Amino acid sequence: MDTATVVKHTGSHYLLARLPEWSLFPAVLRGRIRLKGASSTNPVAVGDMVRFEYPDNLPDGETPTAETPAVITEVLPRKNYMIRRSANLSRQSHIIAANLDRAFIVVTMDFPEVKLPFLDRILVTCEVYGIPAVIVVNKTDLYDAQIRERLSVFRTIYEGAGYPVMEVSAVTGDGVGKLRDMCRDSLSLFSGVSGVGKSSLIKALDPSLNPRTGEISEAHLQGRHTTTFYEMYRLATGGYIIDTPGIRGFGLVDLSREEIALYFPEMLKVSGDCRFVPCTHTHEPGCAVKEAVEAGKISVERYESYLGMLEEGGKYR
Ligand code: GDP
Ligand code: ZN
Repeated sequence: MDTATVVKHTGSHYLLARLPEWSLFPAVLRGRIRLKGASSTNPVAVGDMVRFEYPDNLPDGETPTAETPAVITEVLPRKNYMIRRSANLSRQSHIIAANLDRAFIVVTMDFPEVKLPFLDRILVTCEVYGIPAVIVVNKTDLYDAQIRERLSVFRTIYEGAGYPVMEVSAVTGDGVGKLRDMCRDSLSLFSGVSGVGKSSLIKALDPSLNPRTGEISEAHLQGRHTTTFYEMYRLATGGYIIDTPGIRGFGLVDLSREEIALYFPEMLKVSGDCRFVPCTHTHEPGCAVKEAVEAGKISVERYESYLGMLEEGGKYR
């Protein structure tokens, strides 16, 4: 028995690697595992650590060729994972990736302008799945004084909420080195709405990568009720990344109204001091969250995102 990491999933086949070694070898699932994760279309996901073995008729110690796939016998416990619904009309879910060290959320202050409530939903999703989020502000080369002022307000809001904010430019390469350093020895998910420069950024990190291909096949697959497959890439400078196609490839959460505030870290921190339990942090007297908003300790923008999510009843994708 040996263990390896799933780096690619295409139909019934998987590619595994014994990281940090990057020699990929094929594998298939043992039928039994297939049945276990009934609600998920992929019981084994990219990023999973799996146990595998070779069929008995292969002599001991013989290394497999491309024609002799290993057999995945077990998925090791996951540190975390992110899921999405497989297709609009489907009740099944699809695991995007497992064992992530962080998610980079790529945004822009302009071209296009980031929508804070939308970003906040993504951050809540990361919190729910236990994946540390890092906000990457791209296209800084285009920002004039006015936009830089907006960026500074943005920074205050999100650093105040506890999220690292990095500034980069895929075009000039500013900040890309720091991003590359963060990627080393870890697995990072990249996400962002189309147009923010996510593909450009991945290319800037490693010019040999071509994330576009995945995006095209995603668009193609969306029309049919087909599962989207994710792939892990190795950066030439070290570390592994998974590209999610646009924001559709991002997670799904289903929260009760009471749960939402648990995933706003800055609200969670003070909510223990609310007079009422549970507290929706809206009309209740003695609400520590509202007091923190009034005192400027919690940003009005984040609080408004929270109220918006409450109103919608806690379903996001
Ligand atoms: P994606 O849809 O998020 O993958 O975005 P792309 O990488 O395709 O980039 C969208 C557009 O923004 C393209 O025209 C890129 O050339 C441009 N772009 C990406 N990054 C930057 C940047 O840092 N600065 C500038 N000025 N343009 C950028
Ligand atoms: Zn409260």
